[in-house]
Amino acid sequence: MSAQQEAGRGVGDVAAHHVLVLGAGYAGTAAAVQLAARARRRQDVRVTLVNAQERFTERMRLHGTATGQQLAELSVPELLEGTGARFVRGWVTAVDADARTVRVDDEQVLHYDTLVYALGGVADTAAVPGAEDHAYALNGAQDAEALAARLATLGSGSGTVIVAGSGLTGVESAAEIAERHPGLNVVLLGRQEPGAAMNARAGAYLRAALGRLGVRVRSGVEVAKVLPGAVELADGESVAADAVVWTSGTRVSPLAAAAGLAVDEHGRVVTDTALRSVSHPDVYAVGDAAAIRQGYGVMHGTCQSGMPTGVHAAVSILRTLKGKRPKPFRFGYYHTPVSLGRHDAVVQFTRPDDSPRRMCLTGRTAARYKETVTASPWPTYGRMKKMPASGAFWPRGGRFTRLSRITRIVGEAR
Ligand SMILES: Cc1cc2nc3c(=O)[nH]c(=O)nc-3n(C[C@H](O)[C@H](O)[C@H](O)COP(=O)(O)OP(=O)(O)OC[C@H]3O[C@@H](n4cnc5c(N)ncnc54)[C@H](O)[C@@H]3O)c2cc1C
Repeated sequence: MSAQQEAGRGVGDVAAHHVLVLGAGYAGTAAAVQLAARARRRQDVRVTLVNAQERFTERMRLHGTATGQQLAELSVPELLEGTGARFVRGWVTAVDADARTVRVDDEQVLHYDTLVYALGGVADTAAVPGAEDHAYALNGAQDAEALAARLATLGSGSGTVIVAGSGLTGVESAAEIAERHPGLNVVLLGRQEPGAAMNARAGAYLRAALGRLGVRVRSGVEVAKVLPGAVELADGESVAADAVVWTSGTRVSPLAAAAGLAVDEHGRVVTDTALRSVSHPDVYAVGDAAAIRQGYGVMHGTCQSGMPTGVHAAVSILRTLKGKRPKPFRFGYYHTPVSLGRHDAVVQFTRPDDSPRRMCLTGRTAARYKETVTASPWPTYGRMKKMPASGAFWPRGGRFTRLSRITRIVGEAR
């Protein structure tokens, strides 16, 4: 083993089992903190967390960052202090699943015994020509700040901002921009009607709020191309824009597929019920980067589900080290909180399969609920450091996620 590979192990503890967590987003941070806190007194387990930045990026606030609100300075290395886990800042450029190594910034090589793959996902700017070059996305703090700078230059004028993608990120972004920059003409373009997955009352509230904020909604349209200063729709119509915000689709890092891990059609790591890669059981995949099947289908990426996947992976790794079998992961969705500017929101409560229940919240109560949810991950990690078990509570989904149901659905899919 080279000196650089040795960097994955500490001096004097070469025999320790090294768990390497890639990505300090909502899921990877949950995995690293949970593991480090539970293994704090063990000499035979070492945890390293690798992330592109030291700052924990609250992705759920990036539409706010795009309209000039400051993100909190939340330091991942500081969070890990006292847990014994190590933080490595850098960009992961390759995973060698056979040699069990990870390359960081093309120069450092870290060895692992168990890998937790938590690199998340980004808006799919590769979906149409021009989006990568001419559209803004909310993939990280820098992207959001670049959009904020552009909006500030348009701020008092009467420019047009097109938000492409009428899913929840598109809705939240359009509402935020329209509220902060009332002089701008904000157009929300997408295939589906905004709020289409909500019940009638919540969906109607959401669309009325967009209307009150002056957002012009065009649903049933598909963007075919992004050009400098315009978007071209599938029917050939060109819509002029001073800024285009791309929120549609999700693209994951190509690293998992390049490493030979089994991935689905979106490049997400396909996992077994314990969240291990079906092709490489020493790799756990969590959060948006993983294709995790439940009784109701493959989970879609959210923070509410990402944190439990990280915690479950951590607990499973420690169970395995004790010679026990990991338990199947079960998760049921419970809400969809959507901000509509700073003072308004709608919260759709859901069944475990994410279908809407009758109950929803709207207005200022919903806005307070949404803020509580958005602010909760960081204090949750802090609590987990002291009491790891406090992070292990989430709705298991009842009959929607019983194993017999998963097995039956997997069987039907084959
Ligand atoms: C504007 C917006 C609003 C949202 N609102 C909500 C909401 O209200 N509720 C909800 O549940 N979800 C919401 N989401 C979705 C939610 O943010 C994601 O589902 C969640 O971030 C996924 O967590 P994750 O840990 O899998 O990935 P991420 O949080 O994306 O973390 C991935 C981490 O990996 C790092 N990384 C990636 N590639 C590399 C590499 N090669 N090398 C080193 N580091 C790397 C990234 O920098 C990042 O720190 C929202 C998303 C956006 C964009």
